[in-house]
Amino acid sequence: MQTAPRQLELRELPLPEIDDDSALLQVEACGICGSDVEQYEGVIPVRMPLIPGHEPLGTIARIGDRAGKRWGVNVGDRVAVEALIRCGHCRDCLAGNYQVCRGRGGLFGHGYVPLSRAPGMWGAYADYMYLDPLSIVHRVRADVPANIAVMFNPLGAGFRWAVDIPDTKPGDTVLILGPGQRGLASVIAARAAGADRVIVTGLTRDAAKLKLATELGADCAIDIEREDARDRVQELTGGRGADVVVEVSANAPEPVAEALRYVAPGGRIVLAGVKGFKAVPDFISDLVVVKEITIKGAFGVTWHAYESAIRLIESGRVPLERMHTHDFPLERADEAIRTLGGTVPGASSIHSCLVP
Ligand SMILES: [Zn+2]
Ligand SMILES: [Zn+2]
Repeated sequence: MQTAPRQLELRELPLPEIDDDSALLQVEACGICGSDVEQYEGVIPVRMPLIPGHEPLGTIARIGDRAGKRWGVNVGDRVAVEALIRCGHCRDCLAGNYQVCRGRGGLFGHGYVPLSRAPGMWGAYADYMYLDPLSIVHRVRADVPANIAVMFNPLGAGFRWAVDIPDTKPGDTVLILGPGQRGLASVIAARAAGADRVIVTGLTRDAAKLKLATELGADCAIDIEREDARDRVQELTGGRGADVVVEVSANAPEPVAEALRYVAPGGRIVLAGVKGFKAVPDFISDLVVVKEITIKGAFGVTWHAYESAIRLIESGRVPLERMHTHDFPLERADEAIRTLGGTVPGASSIHSCLVP
């Protein structure tokens, strides 16, 4: 339970009651990502105390009859759970954009709802988690190791940000800025979508991640501190630029301006890396005009992308275990988050999860 910024403690709670429309999940693993670090540090506005954990994988421990019929799952089935819990009635939900629903008040979803809201057990840093009537579950085959199956989250982001949103097609060149968890997932997704060429950029300190990107399917990795990335991209694309640029680097706003240089005329740019609300220096809007560039923002993941991710995980076609670096028990959640955040000396995480 998170009781204050940088404060996690273990607590025992009674299991919640389940009605006809809800369920109880026995958590097998909970993925952790950059937003867990922000939540831990108190940057994300949530009401505490609460149980964090928004990337849950587990098995159905109890389920109401109606929920079982609606969701198509039963006790014992393994499921991945989407973080966001929609309201189902607002304009965004009705328009099919449930990932931006705020109809239940602010950021409402697994890992974000306070303990004070019954039944309290909303997050997956726990042995059990409550499933709301509007929680969305995806079946996952039981024979995939839990710490790999739980990658449905970063991989789902890869499919939505690098494939679904920019409408990536076979023959496209996809350039991914940033080789972190989401960047690597974007490499895998772009490759799976049949992109002709996948290029990834990073810094000198990202050398190991850039190498991993090529093992996961990137044709070329560019160290932007050692090479002239604009020249390299021109060279690799026959002077055209990339059809799709996916910006998933953290904090630095400069790559957003650079994306306009890298993209081909008529190309698509997806912005998904958050920059702490900093402005972008040297953003030349005329490039957007004269090259007729489409720029789209991406924050959440939606049903179709999660399904693509889960099918790819189940196929065993990609050596995802190379992306997975750490398993932590619940008792070490604090260390897990700090490891992911890069503040534990000597430890470097790409994908980590908690295993209750
Ligand atoms: Zn996450
Ligand atoms: Zn809604």
